[in-house]
Amino acid sequence: MKREYIEKITDADLILVGIGKEFETNKYQTEERAIEALQTLKEHLEGKNYYVITVCTNSILKQAGFPAERIVCPCGNVELKQCTNKCDESLQVLTIEDRKKLEKCLNNGEEPRFGQCPVCGKDMVLNNVYASQYDENGYLENWKLYTKWLQGTLNKKLCVLELGMDLTYPSIIRWPFEKVAYYNQKAVFFRVNADLYHMAEELKDKGLSIAENSIDWLLEKDI
Ligand SMILES: [Zn+2]
Repeated sequence: MKREYIEKITDADLILVGIGKEFETNKYQTEERAIEALQTLKEHLEGKNYYVITVCTNSILKQAGFPAERIVCPCGNVELKQCTNKCDESLQVLTIEDRKKLEKCLNNGEEPRFGQCPVCGKDMVLNNVYASQYDENGYLENWKLYTKWLQGTLNKKLCVLELGMDLTYPSIIRWPFEKVAYYNQKAVFFRVNADLYHMAEELKDKGLSIAENSIDWLLEKDI
């Protein structure tokens, strides 16, 4: 299976990658392993025209060294903070102090707060979907690049890699990926997931289901 995957990537004009919740730290996988797996993926994609989208909010693609112009994180990240009230222009990059605070809060299981909004005085929180009023301006520029890139995939040899996606926000990755693969005559589709690996009936001849945790799978050496 790994050999076929490498062959398809090598053969493809474009590669669309979705990174799912299996890449968020849990009891089963550490952050180190998730980063290592993504670095392996990055090596596979070297020199190719690809785009990566993730529903993770842990900035793990950046940590693995993916270039900012090839990734989009529509659920947010740990790079930016925003006002709880979503005041205009309230988005700011986390300072070094904020990062220290974030680390401490994550260790203690507390919700991080980063001072007060200069406009309304409410708390500043991480810019992600868990904010009560999520400010989507944090990812919109990359989203525009991504949708433009997607429009250019039709009639091209497209390899779709859906790695570790569960049913969190299926409208961001799972459903649109299936649609893109369905309408592209030259597409191949790899779905890697420990639990939700089943392929839709209409994608059976384009798709390969791999019933395995995607971090384990990427780190396997059996090529
Ligand atoms: Zn505010």
